[in-house]
Amino acid sequence: MKQARIPAFAGMTIGFGMTMAFSAAAKEVALDVGHYAAEPGVIAASGVPEFEFNLALASEVKAELETHGVKVRLIGERGDYAVLHHRTRDARGADLFVSIHHDSVQEHLLPQAGRFAGFSLFISRHNPKLGKSLACASAIGAKLRGAGFTPSRYHADPVLGESRPFADEANGVHYYDNLAVARTAAMASVLLEAGVVVNREEEQRMREPAVRRRIAVAVAGGVRECLAKELQ
Ligand SMILES: [Zn+2]
Repeated sequence: MKQARIPAFAGMTIGFGMTMAFSAAAKEVALDVGHYAAEPGVIAASGVPEFEFNLALASEVKAELETHGVKVRLIGERGDYAVLHHRTRDARGADLFVSIHHDSVQEHLLPQAGRFAGFSLFISRHNPKLGKSLACASAIGAKLRGAGFTPSRYHADPVLGESRPFADEANGVHYYDNLAVARTAAMASVLLEAGVVVNREEEQRMREPAVRRRIAVAVAGGVRECLAKELQ
């Protein structure tokens, strides 16, 4: 464990004898709430916009990370980030950028949306910290699988998805090189599609507080695991 010196700020007193843990605790995560009020993303089977699912899950991940001493900078929680690269710009200084989304399928497949379920993770080969992006995405995917969730896989399919090649097939991680929040980030960056909310059954699961909690604990666990390693 590294010892860090606590900087002295004017007007701030830190009591002697106070112990603080510095390991993952010194790390900061930018947690991005996907989409914004004017364009709230996918419309779920019940009509609820994706932004609401993203906000609920991101808030839960934030709480879970903070419980473990990780700093969190929430991005876009007020629904006012219309320009994608402003999200990564305002994340500067963080150790990891995690964008929270919920998934759909191609429009012509919407009548069959019940066939599609599960999570997906995306990273970009244009991100300057590719190794760390992959390690974090794999760690999140592995924790989600450990919590009983399954990767959706269909994004890699040339017909059903968009032929996004796997970076880590077992853990549901794909390359999506032009993904703005991964390409424009100065730090490692991962985008999570937590579940397919155009699927009515999956949407119901995603709305359950206990399920959201399990996802949040898994995501935070994967983030903490990869931040504890020093990767480029
Ligand atoms: Zn989205």
